[in-house]
Amino acid sequence: NPRVGVLALQGDVREHAALLRGLGAEVALVRRPEELAAVDGLVIPGGESSVIDKLSRAFGMQQPIRAAIAAGLPVYGTCAGLILLADEVLDGIEGQQSFGGMDIAVRRNAFGRQTESFETELDVPVLGQQPVRATFIRAPIVERTGAPVEVLATLPDGGIVAVEQGRLLGTSFHPEVDGETRFHARFLAHVSDHVRSA
Ligand code: GLN
Repeated sequence: NPRVGVLALQGDVREHAALLRGLGAEVALVRRPEELAAVDGLVIPGGESSVIDKLSRAFGMQQPIRAAIAAGLPVYGTCAGLILLADEVLDGIEGQQSFGGMDIAVRRNAFGRQTESFETELDVPVLGQQPVRATFIRAPIVERTGAPVEVLATLPDGGIVAVEQGRLLGTSFHPEVDGETRFHARFLAHVSDHVRSA
């Protein structure tokens, strides 16, 4: 079974862990460099990206996570996690940093006050015909994608809300709150490929 971690500094850690366990993965909560070193993939949950950023630096995790991403570790980031995977963060708080790795610019809290939260159905062709039920909570939007980035889903207005670059996967929304398992299954497939190629 794949051994994967959920970055457990802040955010909806339990929901991801439960979903991944349901898919047959061995799941560890990751707060320390040695815990990161023991997993073959990492989920960065939703929550508050600026808080996860600060805690990751306080826990000495920023550099290890950056190094792991550079070395090819599969990572799936949802919402705040997507922000943390972005090379460029727009509307971050003063001094906010990201781990980076994906050649994208992401705008935090991109939906106005009227629509802080909403649910919709999205077509995600790489996941098959059945649409994805997607919950957005103070969600970010991807405003720029570089050449290595594949857009997996857009809103009807064209806003990019799911992206992939190699074994890095990111969604603006929270599949783990809707029992949508296909993004996590795709992440676990990246993990298996990574383990096989190691
Ligand atoms: N607005 C949050 C941030 O900037 C993300 C919200 C979420 O993860 N649901 O990190």
